[in-house]
This record gives sequence, structure tokens and C-alpha cells, in this order.
Amino acid sequence: MTITPTPAPRIAVIGAGPGGLTCARVLQVHGVAATVYDRASGPDDRNQGGTLDLHPDDGQAALKEAGLLEEFFRLARPEGQEMRQFDAATGNLRFHHEPAEGQLSAPEIDRGQLRDLLLDALTPGTVRWGHALQSVEGPADGPRRLHFANGTVVEADLVIGADGAWSKVRRVHSSAIPRHIGVNYLEAWFHDVDDRHPEIAEIVGLGSAMAADGDRCLFAQRNSGGHIRVYIIQAGPADWLARAGLTEQDTDRIRTLLLDRYRDWSPGLRRLLTDNDGLYLDRPLYALPVPHTWESDPTVTLLGDAAHLMPPLGVGVNLAMLDACELALAVAGHDTVADAIRAYEKTMLPRSTEMQSALDGAAAGLLSDEPFDPSHLDAD
Ligand SMILES: Cc1cc2nc3c(=O)[nH]c(=O)nc-3n(C[C@H](O)[C@H](O)[C@H](O)COP(=O)(O)OP(=O)(O)OC[C@H]3O[C@@H](n4cnc5c(N)ncnc54)[C@H](O)[C@@H]3O)c2cc1C
Repeated sequence: MTITPTPAPRIAVIGAGPGGLTCARVLQVHGVAATVYDRASGPDDRNQGGTLDLHPDDGQAALKEAGLLEEFFRLARPEGQEMRQFDAATGNLRFHHEPAEGQLSAPEIDRGQLRDLLLDALTPGTVRWGHALQSVEGPADGPRRLHFANGTVVEADLVIGADGAWSKVRRVHSSAIPRHIGVNYLEAWFHDVDDRHPEIAEIVGLGSAMAADGDRCLFAQRNSGGHIRVYIIQAGPADWLARAGLTEQDTDRIRTLLLDRYRDWSPGLRRLLTDNDGLYLDRPLYALPVPHTWESDPTVTLLGDAAHLMPPLGVGVNLAMLDACELALAVAGHDTVADAIRAYEKTMLPRSTEMQSALDGAAAGLLSDEPFDPSHLDAD
């Protein structure tokens, strides 16, 4: 009797963010092939944003399974765990944490460095750029048909939605759409800070610096290569810039508006609003309704922001990478894709519901002037 081996499932990961790339890498470490599709035209298509801290129990654990932890520590900045909190009105230092020698609870890495670390570890050709998913068709028991904006149609036995906040894959499972959380980030960048912006470099130090007054906040972080990114955090509607008759191109008028809004802040801190290089970038914040769950489907699942978009309070990337790692391990360790999805979602959905619930309505925390709670900084 000839036994025909079951063909390997065709796995399509939608999204080459930290979640999608981690998933593809851990699958490949276990000999499971996967193709990643991303709408970006290439890896450098868009500004990758700032710096991320990866924690031992999730982001770092995922990189360990990906065989990349050592390389991560070669790139990471443990000194980035330094944290300063200033009084908004006086500019006086209220709290200062400097990481102890060997503290690795939340070392920082630039988002672009993390992306390259994961991308470079994948089998060449794994990522298909320029593929913006439009819809997922086909029966629940597969095969699924993926329709891309460039006209390509691809069949897959497992579709992994790692396509972020505005996921198209999510529509298979739910009609949930992200809601604005009533808070907006305006991003400002400072380059070559030690030479060109020494006062800013002095305020921020090697890690993060923040000040808040309950209505407004400034959160600055040093990135590698002498760059500092500042989030100007304000409550308001998502279209606050348009309501003020402004666009991101109106640098001078945005500055004037900010100086007025932060008029009672210390002059030193106000330099974080005005001395930046280049344009301000408007980033309204959204979150999915809580809880966001669905009935298990044998051919489609979600991870990261596609599954549980939350306010950015330092867990998003870590959870996306943990989801990705656990899903890949489940696929490698189960006989069928359907069993793997069930096993993965059994852990992931309660975990993300718990975290979503904890952070739901936490938007005010982004503006809080409460003294910084240092308790988690020492946990290694
Ligand atoms: C302003 C801001 C600051 C943040 N700061 C932090 C922080 O300091 N620490 C932290 O842990 N988290 C932070 N987060 C959250 C963090 O960015 C996300 O949780 C994390 O990136 C989620 O990873 P992901 O892989 O699920 O999705 P993403 O990183 O969003 O990646 C999704 C990928 O899917 C692709 N894609 C999207 N749609 C399609 C489509 N239709 N077809 C094909 N490809 C598609 C995108 O191009 C992208 O590459 C922040 C978020 C914001 C908005």
C-alpha cells in the first residue's frame, strides 16, 4: 500500500510587522514554510517609528524561540531603561531611575532594528512586498482565497491576520472596528541631538523623560544613532488638527498652537515642542472594543493588534510577538491547522481579554501627573 503524505498546509501571514515576522521566523525554525504578504512596497517604505522595550516573558521569550535573543542583546540598549519624570510647571526633576548593572527587564531597541533582525533571519523571498490584502474569501474549512489590491489571488490553508490596527483579515471573525480613545499623539523628532540639541539631550538622558499635568503630557525617548522622539500627548478628538484648520505640513502654525496650549509649562520643557527637526506627525490613538473574541475557525486566526488593539502603554509589541511565537509553536506541534488554532486561541484570547480590560479606559493614564511608579522597573 502506498501512503500519500498529507501535503504541508499553505500558510499565509498577512503583515510584516513584529508579529507577522516573528510568526514566520518561528515557523521556519521548526521547518514549517510560510509566506508573508505586506502592503508596503518594501522594508523601508515607511518610517518605522521609535524605540520599543522588550520584556523577558513575552518579546524576549519570542526572540529566544526565534533563535535571535543573543543578536537582540547585541543591538539592544539596556541604558535606555533610564527614566526621568519632570514637574511640568517648574521643569524640576521629580523622579529619576537609572538601571542597575545587568538589569534587562525592558531593554530598548529601535523598531527598524527589530524589523531588520527578524527580516534578515527569514528564508530569502519569504516576504512578498506590495501585496495589500483586500479580502479573504472561500469556505471556513478552506482553502481560503486571498485577494490583493495588485490583482493577485492566492490560496491558503491557514491565514494568519497580523495586519495591525485596521486588519482586513479581522473581518472574517468580527465586525469590530477600532474606536478613538480620546487621546492623540503628535510625534516630533530631534536628530544628531548631542551636537545640535544638547539641551534636549540633557533633559532626556539615555532613556525616557516625561512630564504631565493631567491634561497634557510630553514623553521623550532616546533612540539609537543620536535621535530623540517626543510624543506630545493631548486629549481631544481624532481630527483635532483639522478642527484647528491645520495639516501636518503647517509646522509653524502647529508650533504656535502648541506654545499656547503648553503656555504654563517650564521654558526648558517647551523646547521639546518647538526645537524639533522636520514635520510633526499626527497619530490619533485607537483601541478595539473590549473584549474582542470570536468563534474558532479552522483556517483563519489573528494575532497582535489585529486581534487586540489597545492603548499604547508599552505592551503592544510584546503581546504581538508572544502571540506570534505561541501560534507558530502550536502549528508546528499539532497534526492539523484547526487543532493548532484552537490550542493557540484557548490561551491567547483570555490573556488578551485580561490585558484589554486592564487597559480599557486607561487613556487618562497617558496624561497623568501622578508620581511615576518605579515598582516594575526593578523586576528582572
Ligand atoms: C504611536 C504609537 C506608539 C506605540 N509605542 C509602543 C511602545 O512603545 N511599545 C509597545 O510595545 N507598543 C507600542 N505601540 C503599539 C505597537 O506599535 C503595536 O502593538 C505593534 O506594532 C503591533 O504589532 P503587529 O505586528 O500586530 O502590527 P503592526 O506593527 O501594525 O504591523 C502590521 C503590518 O501589517 C501590514 N498591513 C496592514 N494592513 C495590511 C493589508 N491590508 N495587507 C497587507 N499588509 C497589511 C502593515 O504594513 C504592517 O507591516 C505603539 C503604537 C502607536 C500607535
